[in-house]
Formats: sequence, structure tokens, C-alpha cells
Amino acid sequence: MNGNITLTMIKPTAVKNGYAGPILAMINQAGFRIQAMKFMKLSKEQAQKFYEVHKARPFYKDLVEFMSSGPIVAAILEKENAVEAYRELIGATDPSKAEKGTIRHRYAGNIQENAVHGSDSDENAIIESDFFFSRVERY
Ligand code: ATP
Ligand code: MG
Repeated sequence: MNGNITLTMIKPTAVKNGYAGPILAMINQAGFRIQAMKFMKLSKEQAQKFYEVHKARPFYKDLVEFMSSGPIVAAILEKENAVEAYRELIGATDPSKAEKGTIRHRYAGNIQENAVHGSDSDENAIIESDFFFSRVERY
């Protein structure tokens, strides 16, 4: 069964470049409902924990540095089949390979600073949502 939530982060460079508004507009336009949202800066320890699954990857250290380098916007998005629908909206991890009209095609700088995060499974969407938001922060 497919879930109906996904967790997104608008990454530090995209926030710094003023793209949070346009990205949220695209999210609204695509029919996602925002269940929860916050503007915050991850500590290095929080970024390490969030990306623990990538610990063994060569880009892990840089990714943690980057994701804790400035404020992000984190949000839980609701839509039927949310994980897959949102990954379609954001496009490929490497923005040079992202389809035209996707968030990463429009707003990403490079494969690391790729504008947004999107959960990769229903299971991780729940884990990642619980990482950022308590029960009373969701509507
Ligand atoms: P995300 O999890 O952020 O939605 P993704 O699922 O498309 O992205 P992952 O393979 O989960 O990609 O990688 C997590 C993040 O690590 C990427 O979004 C990107 O910021 C960074 N990353 C992935 N591959 C590379 C790479 N080859 N070089 C540098 N950074 C990378
Ligand atoms: Mg991923």
C-alpha cells in the first residue's frame, strides 16, 4: 500500500538564493497539502543523524557540512502516493539529468546542492517526519 506523506527539506543554498517561496509555490501547484513546516538550521549532529544511511558513501562528510551550513525549510507533504509523486516533481538527484520543469532543473546548483530533499520510501517518510516534527506540530 502506498502512503500519503513525504518529507521534504529545502536545502541551504536554495533558501539562501531566495527559492523557498517559488519551490513552495510549485509544491502547492502540484497539489500537495502541507501537514507541517518549519524554518531551522540543522546542527552537524542532526545532519549526521538524518543522513546516517549514507554514512559509508564518499560524499557523506561534505553532505553533512553542507546541510548544516545554513537554514533549511522542512515540511511534511500530503498527497496520494506522495513519495513517488514528489520525486517526480523534484527530478533526478543530479540536476543536469533532471527533467525540464522539475524543481531541481529550475533551482538546483549541482548534485550536492540540489535544492531539495524528498523521502525515498513510505517507511523513510515516516521516520524522517518523526525526526523533524512532534504530534502537535502536524495538522
Ligand atoms: P535526497 O535524499 O536529498 O532527496 P536523492 O534521494 O535524490 O536525494 P541520495 O542518493 O539519497 O539522493 O543522496 C542524498 C543526497 O546526497 C543528495 O540529495 C545529494 O545532496 C547528495 N549526493 C548524492 N550523490 C552525490 C554525489 N555523487 N556527490 C555529491 N553529493 C551527492
Ligand atoms: Mg535520498
